[in-house]
Amino acid sequence: MPDSCPLVGCQSKSAKIRRIPDNIHVTCPVCGDFVIVATLAATADFRQDPDLIEGLRAYIRAENEADRVPSLNSSWKRLAEAYQPSAFSKLFGK
Ligand SMILES: [Zn+2]
Repeated sequence: MPDSCPLVGCQSKSAKIRRIPDNIHVTCPVCGDFVIVATLAATADFRQDPDLIEGLRAYIRAENEADRVPSLNSSWKRLAEAYQPSAFSKLFGK
């Protein structure tokens, strides 16, 4: 169980981690408020896809702005891809 934000490139120690059955509720000052399935947070697959994390953060932000707490599970890649900055903005900076 992580004691810091599980998102790649963040690992903020200021994040509040709360365990709920099979899930972890993360309140991170950088990434926002989200719930992640405990098994996903621990997988190498999740940790080894840093390119998608930016999209994932954008998704979490959008949900938080709508007063929702997103729940991340095995379909996280699809969500992250949908919110991924375009190839154009990647090439030429944000
Ligand atoms: Zn974070």
